[in-house]
Amino acid sequence: MEKKLQEYARLLVEVGINIKKGQKLIIACPVDHAPFARMCAKYAYEMGCSEVIMNWTDDNLTRQKYLMAEDSVFDTVPEWRVRFYTDYAKEKAAFLHLISDDPENLLGVDANRILRSHKSSGEALKEYRDIRNKNINPWSIGALASEKWAKKVFPDLDEKAAVAALWEKIFMAVRIKGDGTAVEAWHEHSKKLRERMKILNDYNFKSLHYKNELGTDLVVELAHNHIWEAGGDTTADGQFYMPNMPTEEIFTANKRDGINGVIYASMPLCRDGNVIDGIRFVMKDGKIVEASATQGEEILKNLISVDEGASYFGEVALVPYDSPISNSKTLYYETLFDENASCHFAFGRAYATTVKGGIEMDKEQLKAAGLNDSITHVDFMVGTKDLSIVGLTHDGKEITVFEDGNFVF
Ligand code: ZN
Ligand code: ZN
Repeated sequence: MEKKLQEYARLLVEVGINIKKGQKLIIACPVDHAPFARMCAKYAYEMGCSEVIMNWTDDNLTRQKYLMAEDSVFDTVPEWRVRFYTDYAKEKAAFLHLISDDPENLLGVDANRILRSHKSSGEALKEYRDIRNKNINPWSIGALASEKWAKKVFPDLDEKAAVAALWEKIFMAVRIKGDGTAVEAWHEHSKKLRERMKILNDYNFKSLHYKNELGTDLVVELAHNHIWEAGGDTTADGQFYMPNMPTEEIFTANKRDGINGVIYASMPLCRDGNVIDGIRFVMKDGKIVEASATQGEEILKNLISVDEGASYFGEVALVPYDSPISNSKTLYYETLFDENASCHFAFGRAYATTVKGGIEMDKEQLKAAGLNDSITHVDFMVGTKDLSIVGLTHDGKEITVFEDGNFVF
């Protein structure tokens, strides 16, 4: 176990972030996992990182705050916190997010407090978001098994066994065997994803038509000059990094106002410490005009109304039904894992990197390129084993992309 954890820490720093000599590293980490953060810091310093700065998190304290803090705190963000993110982003620091959230940490909390908190931080961190859009900060997200999360994934196991089982799933998903081959395995994996990415880029589809037995029937126009991305990203300064570990997706930007039809989610979505299940959206000219859920509907409706762009999509991602995380036949209640088991969309902000020349564009130019903007970005899963996707090229040819949940190429 110790060996695998060491290998994981090294993988996150070396492949996830690929820390540069003299670069600062901001690590967000749950306090319960301090020993793991220390391992990451050690590898980072060994690779020449100039300083590791910690941003500790704690589910328990977050819940306490939402339940008991004075009401006004949800409408303001202190200047020092804004400066923390903005200044480090300007300095081209790297950001490593370690997560182990209890999927239902905020169950029963006043949903309005969560919404207001999103709105105030979204507003306060505007400059920070604009800098991050320039893609000058390598970043990565990795997950660590915690008791509450593990018990949600494996309710029939006792706490200790559940945590052990979840760690095994995490190691499987990030290709760690404990024999020191993970870094190499990742380079190989990235190469394969990028081969398929190239095929999609060569087709340069105008639109994709999704259909399955859940009732999904959706036509998604892609942004003009869109770029499919996968298996890592490169900063404006040429630093190659892996935003998500694991990653199985190939993703791009839809045209903001170019989505029409009905879409059903195929898995529950955990967001803001709540489970949202049975999502159904009706889309008209890119906008969500009807939204419902069989569980967590209020949380969902708040998520899509945090600002104007939250009710438009910003990401289209393809993941085969036959892929490692999907084949583990486990519902993780954690988007980092579930989104990499399933085709998904995100409502909210599009990535500037998914359109040609995007990182040099300002807000207006990105909008003109068809990209959506919002303070939020929420992935939700739509892939099923019978999903079909047919692409339409600009010269009117129909090309099957997905059949029975999988790529045909
Ligand atoms: Zn995605
Ligand atoms: Zn996303």
